[in-house]
Amino acid sequence: MAQTVERIRDAVRRHSTRFEHAIPLIASENLLSPYAKELLVSDFHSRYAEGLPGERYYEGNEQVDEVETLCLDLAKRLFRCSFADVRPISGTVANLAVLKAMAEPGDLVGTCRLADGAHISSASFGAFGLRGVKPAYYAWDSERMTIDVARTKEILHEMRPKLCLFGLSLFLFPLPVRELSATLEEIGARGWYDGAHVLGLIAGGEFQDPLHEGCVVLSASTHKTLPGPQHGILLGNSEDPELTNRLASAAFPGVTSNHHLHSMAALAVSLAEHLAFGRGYARQVIANAKALGAALHERGFDVLGEKLGFTASHTLAVRVTREGGGEEVARRLAHAGIIANKNLLPGDTSPKRPGGIRLGTPEVTRLGMTEREMVRIAELMDDLLHRGKAPESVAADASAFKSGFTGLRYCFAAGEAAYRYYDLVGHPPP
Ligand SMILES: *Cc1c(COP(=O)(O)O)cnc(C)c1O
Repeated sequence: MAQTVERIRDAVRRHSTRFEHAIPLIASENLLSPYAKELLVSDFHSRYAEGLPGERYYEGNEQVDEVETLCLDLAKRLFRCSFADVRPISGTVANLAVLKAMAEPGDLVGTCRLADGAHISSASFGAFGLRGVKPAYYAWDSERMTIDVARTKEILHEMRPKLCLFGLSLFLFPLPVRELSATLEEIGARGWYDGAHVLGLIAGGEFQDPLHEGCVVLSASTHKTLPGPQHGILLGNSEDPELTNRLASAAFPGVTSNHHLHSMAALAVSLAEHLAFGRGYARQVIANAKALGAALHERGFDVLGEKLGFTASHTLAVRVTREGGGEEVARRLAHAGIIANKNLLPGDTSPKRPGGIRLGTPEVTRLGMTEREMVRIAELMDDLLHRGKAPESVAADASAFKSGFTGLRYCFAAGEAAYRYYDLVGHPPP
């Protein structure tokens, strides 16, 4: 078995090396800061702390309580809200907690269609199905890439869902939460925002502010635009103590037992760093996405949302039917050292044949790239997909370009990050 262990370590090392040389454009991925990452291998990883700070089931939790109390305070400060729970261990688990707390089997829950960008949490084969709730689909405006307010008001009046979810995995523009909040009130529905993709932009004050626009709960992953550890979070601003109690007991014991204390501690660091650096980071993430959209458009790519500046978030959607379709293009890009994903786009008829790719700028922004580098990335994609340059040759260009970006930005100890931001394995300290 020793050989097997060596093989596993070696595969992880090869993975790290590959990412060091690649241009990472997955919209849901990011890099953890050095101080956050070191806590992932701390002794917190070995412990249990069910319950809440000061009300645990096991002994030995004093320092865990100290960190979790800080974590909760930082979350409430960052999102200007009165309720936080950091026990969901992922975004999907946070969504399950909301569904458990706020819906019953058989209920209708408002949401977007998967082809319009909704996450699989809204699917019958995902969290919605698990809770036994049925989707009431909003109308979509594919020109503006957001919910169609007028038609959705009619749908809400007709179907009267008791819970309305706002949130996407292909998230280009803010959703009309404020515009629909009066309708929600009229039909007695509560607003729920799934901010997994855009949490870091919300926290940076650069997107929308769902808890102050009409949603009572915000669920999210903490590792997408918020550059934290793989974890989940629940945030709320409800005056209703029954709702917050229901959310807390849905988080534990509803959908978790232990809540991954090492990851919770890393989240506390990430939240503190976001309070210090989040605004500048969020601004640059969005500026980079806009710049990449414009540079791709200039080179003949069909970037969605052209009339609206392509995006107001970290994400771009590019229709690549001319270039061979989402699946083939994503694979060819990966061979050329540019990591992205195929994506369903509005109007796609088969879920198995996505017509587009999704690109995101959080990770390249963390590496210190700005608008100028976005133009270079567009050139590399143009070389590969329009000018017939060989993938090996583009991969070499991508690697040379990437070698100029070895440290992290927007965190403490930024300059020291180089040796450990991809992986601790196989990267001895300098
Ligand atoms: C990624 C995502 C999730 C799930 O998050 P995990 O942390 O991967 O479980 C939930 N909702 C949306 C909108 C997402 O994009």
